[in-house]
Amino acid sequence: MKGGLVSETGAVLHSERRPTPRAEGPDAVVAAIRDFISHLATAGDGTPEGVGLAVPGLVSETAASYAANLGWRDVPASDFTTLDVPVLLGHDVRTGGLAESVFGAGRGISDFLFLPIGTGIAGAMIIEGAPYGGSSGWGGEIGHVPVFPDGEQCACGQLGCLETYASAASVGRRYSLRAGLEGVRAEQVVSSDDPIAIEVWDEAVEALSLALATYTLLLDPSLIVLGGGLSEAGPALFDPVRTRLVKRLTFRDAPPLVPAALGVDAGMLGAALLGWRAAGRPDLGPDWSTDVRSAPSVS
Ligand SMILES: [Zn+2]
Repeated sequence: MKGGLVSETGAVLHSERRPTPRAEGPDAVVAAIRDFISHLATAGDGTPEGVGLAVPGLVSETAASYAANLGWRDVPASDFTTLDVPVLLGHDVRTGGLAESVFGAGRGISDFLFLPIGTGIAGAMIIEGAPYGGSSGWGGEIGHVPVFPDGEQCACGQLGCLETYASAASVGRRYSLRAGLEGVRAEQVVSSDDPIAIEVWDEAVEALSLALATYTLLLDPSLIVLGGGLSEAGPALFDPVRTRLVKRLTFRDAPPLVPAALGVDAGMLGAALLGWRAAGRPDLGPDWSTDVRSAPSVS
């Protein structure tokens, strides 16, 4: 878990990480979040005006409806804090997308895709200026778009999902399996020029370019923002994906592919925007700085 106390000018006054006590059950995680928020609140001069949280799974502004990996079912927003202030919840990836949209790589752009590629892959579809969750909140699960018919089975049960080929975890896993090694990480695969690494990376790039072509044709974004751990690969990721995306799209231009601006802080800063929105300040954010890594941090 990562939390911070963020001022109305976007200054991160204090930020901190804590482990998620997942093994202790769903209620223990909620209790740990309550403690964490109370602790963060003491880092400022007074009581915060609002609280925002970015949480995984199926989420509305007022409840964490379902999170498979945390065991949550219908946890109301008010359960997450004992502070007497308004609270807003957001989906983790869409909240990161909100921050990138308001003052990050997508600042001033009304339609774009924010795609963090890490252990898994999920997208925040920014449509007409706001993250779009679809009719039931599952919108943006681009990691589970089938890219190779009858391909490898994904943890979700489907076959040939994007995430199975192109997440950082999958790139490491697929290489390790073929090379007969254990625990090779995606960064090592990207920077290696052995034939197995080239093949595994090529399949990841192919899967990504297919999914991004589909997204582009359906939603016509003016920008695609790649984030997450795998985006640190830089040109080794951006160049081949861009080339194939351009080649795949015959009758229209490909949107530019750019790196995310807020890194691992996107979720926390998006949650801060939600906190200020909860406090009745929806106008804050456009003038916040992307230079958040210099903020004081205790980890
Ligand atoms: Zn899947």
